[in-house]
Amino acid sequence: TTFEEARFPKYIMETLVTCENFVKPSAIQSQGWPVALSGRDMVGIAETGSGKTLSFLLPGIRGEGPIVLVMAPTRELVNQIEQQCRKFAQPCKISCLAIYGGVPKDSQQQKLQKGVEILIATPGRLLDFMESGVIKLNKVTYLVLDEADRMLDMGFEKHIRKILSHVRPDRQTLLWSATWPKEVEELGRSYCNVLPVHIQ
Ligand code: AMP
Repeated sequence: TTFEEARFPKYIMETLVTCENFVKPSAIQSQGWPVALSGRDMVGIAETGSGKTLSFLLPGIRGEGPIVLVMAPTRELVNQIEQQCRKFAQPCKISCLAIYGGVPKDSQQQKLQKGVEILIATPGRLLDFMESGVIKLNKVTYLVLDEADRMLDMGFEKHIRKILSHVRPDRQTLLWSATWPKEVEELGRSYCNVLPVHIQ
């Protein structure tokens, strides 16, 4: 893996190339980065001087992709959730963003590329950004499916399944629904890890 292939964000590339004057990754970095970035556990055998420190640091500090993902069925709901989220997240400098369809992508894309920690999204627009490589979900560890029954009613099941195949399996999943039809139960069985706690 070269610096470019590791696809570190611009601010990391600038430090590597401009401040540090590094020309290429060390051997342990080119082997270690793809593994760490893929989310796999790893054991690295390397001595001081091999470049091992940046081998494990850079995949950890690159601020790409949200840690929290909330999916909801409509633009209105996504915006409402984002407003509440902003109130509580802003004081501790955690960034949040709403993305939804029916409006041009440019402005949402620019904000996404600046980095976001909490993403609130409708399934269609989210999948769109994933498929065009604008967003990665490999850092998501806290996943919420809000109004799951409505999302299924609106025909988003295929989108949801595709999206969730890119979220790490060791995440925490919270499924919310106003009703509990067979289809939602099935969704819960597919995507909640161990026996979820039911509340009503
Ligand atoms: P470490 O093996 O982590 O103790 O790093 C040894 C030294 O190598 C540190 O001073 C780093 O700044 C430097 N270094 C790390 N990566 C590279 C690289 N790709 N090219 C040149 N020097 C590097």
